Amino acid sequence: MRIDILTLFPQMCDSVMSESIIGRARRSGKVEINSIDIRDYTLDKHRRVDDKPYGGGMGMVMAAQPIFDCFNSLCKQIGSRPHLIYLTPQGKTLTQERVKELAKLDNIALLCGHYEGIDERVIEELQPEEISVGDYVLTGGELPALIVADSVSRMLPGVLSDDECFEEESHYNSLLEYPQYTHPSVWNGREVPEVLLSGHHANVEKWRREKSLERTFNRRPDMLDNACLTEDDKTFLSNLKT
Ligand code: SAM
Repeated sequence: MRIDILTLFPQMCDSVMSESIIGRARRSGKVEINSIDIRDYTLDKHRRVDDKPYGGGMGMVMAAQPIFDCFNSLCKQIGSRPHLIYLTPQGKTLTQERVKELAKLDNIALLCGHYEGIDERVIEELQPEEISVGDYVLTGGELPALIVADSVSRMLPGVLSDDECFEEESHYNSLLEYPQYTHPSVWNGREVPEVLLSGHHANVEKWRREKSLERTFNRRPDMLDNACLTEDDKTFLSNLKT
């Protein structure tokens, strides 16, 4: 998969995407992630990419032309139109389900706004999918774009090693994950649950499943509506309710 981030701050994205698991995946060619500087496409002789909002008011608005030309140049370079996403607090909130779907695409382009946002006409023209990372406002779309790039990349084959597998993690199956522990077995007087030290695989699996159900029931009961539950799970949950 190829992910292109269209931004005024490419270095901000490059530095994050060069570290840890995603950095490793990029270096081994499992995913290609590029940051493209929108400023390189401005036709303004002073390299400006923003201007005051029509109608007055505070802040600056990113102009349509550099964004439009930047995206068109990317389309030409790739030879097809990538799925374009504009990161905006006005978009649909990102979910693990949407992340799984995006991970099936060959190319996605992530458009980062800044300042007061971008000229509405370029949104009308390019018709991007609009994604929000939550009901709060950030200074720019770079952090949201990195969230999309990271969450999508880790779904790609070979990006996570077997012991970093995502299938039991929170949200993957509409359940929150069970609690995790590591060495030492006693820390600050707190013991690791005995079953995890037993080496009894079936009992460990049962404990983890029940903790996962219990956590979801206590913290995010809304998620249980979409979870795939066995008869044993349902019995366990109905006992929690009483
Ligand atoms: N004036 C805009 C509004 O009220 O909807 C907010 C602009 S915000 C200060 C600047 C940029 O940050 C946006 O264009 C968007 O790209 C990004 N951004 C801010 N919060 C975001 C969020 N929760 N999700 C996704 N992108 C966000």
